[in-house]
Amino acid sequence: MRESLKRFQETIMSKGLEGVVIASPEDLSSTNLRYLSGFTGSSAYLVVTPDRAWLLTDFRYLEQAATECPDFEIVKQDKQVVLSIAEICRNYRIGVLGFEADKVPYQMWHDWNGQVPVVWRPLGKLVEELRLVKNSEEVEIMRKAARVAGESLLEVLPSMVGLTEMDVALSLEMAMRRRGAGSLGFPTIVGSGERGALPHAHPTPRRIQPGDMVTIDFGAEVNGYRSDETVTVAIGTVSDQMRQIFDIVAEAQALGIEAAKPGATSHDVDTAVRSFIDRAGYGEAFGHGTGHGVGLDVHENPFAFSDPRSAEVLVPGMTLTVEPGIYLPGIGGVRLEDTLVITETGNERLTMVSKEFRTIEG
Ligand code: ZN
Ligand code: ZN
Repeated sequence: MRESLKRFQETIMSKGLEGVVIASPEDLSSTNLRYLSGFTGSSAYLVVTPDRAWLLTDFRYLEQAATECPDFEIVKQDKQVVLSIAEICRNYRIGVLGFEADKVPYQMWHDWNGQVPVVWRPLGKLVEELRLVKNSEEVEIMRKAARVAGESLLEVLPSMVGLTEMDVALSLEMAMRRRGAGSLGFPTIVGSGERGALPHAHPTPRRIQPGDMVTIDFGAEVNGYRSDETVTVAIGTVSDQMRQIFDIVAEAQALGIEAAKPGATSHDVDTAVRSFIDRAGYGEAFGHGTGHGVGLDVHENPFAFSDPRSAEVLVPGMTLTVEPGIYLPGIGGVRLEDTLVITETGNERLTMVSKEFRTIEG
């Protein structure tokens, strides 16, 4: 039986819920639904009780759902889905039903509340908490996604001088897809020259030229899981100032990676990175968090932010990026990012591209 479903059913029971509904219609994709069921189609709903599980989907996905979700009873959605949910609740005497209060749109909630005869309970982050610790199978898929992305980057880097940022992003995407990525992990960021000062630079027609530092933030999606990695490379000779901020970011990143171990908190990782950049005089130029978990979503728990309330005690199986950056408007920027998985003794780097200073000759 699917491990995530089994653990979720135990959790439901311990929280006193008689059932839970998870909605992932066409316009509201839910990685929680995929996590619990394995379903990869674009529209479905789950109803889960401590000992049963239904997946409601339409004609297009009936066969696929039966194959992907052997632990679920597949219900054909041939009427309003709210009526099917109400029927299950009546037939199986579900009186208290949990739902994802932070995800269900108001209109859907309104319909459910009017037509399903149950007491509704917000679910909180129960599914996200289960997703926080990855099992070895999930880690293996994430290793593969990182390898697909990293090998693709190494293929594209040597020939990027003279290309536009958009061409670099496109070449990288094609290389990742050829190596087996199902899609991009997220839209690729390419920021060259002074555009490197934009932390989330959308690729433009600007051409990569000698003297630039180029920041590329990229990832692949494999079996639903994502990779997340950032490199900043020099094209020919770059200014002393850019070289200096590269070294500061690299040192800060190494300190963050060292701090990411079981028992430490995600906030400790942020502090290790941020205090070093502060002391180097660039605190104001590092305006974002240090890192985040990665999995089915590219940004998920835990978060390594400067706010101590973000602190999550790290345990083996959690993933965390360490991605400090220094951004100087009108000049350029440097960001370096690796994705780690916490192990019993420290961490393992899933991403594979070296973060040493790298020069590409034009
Ligand atoms: Zn990234
Ligand atoms: Zn990231």
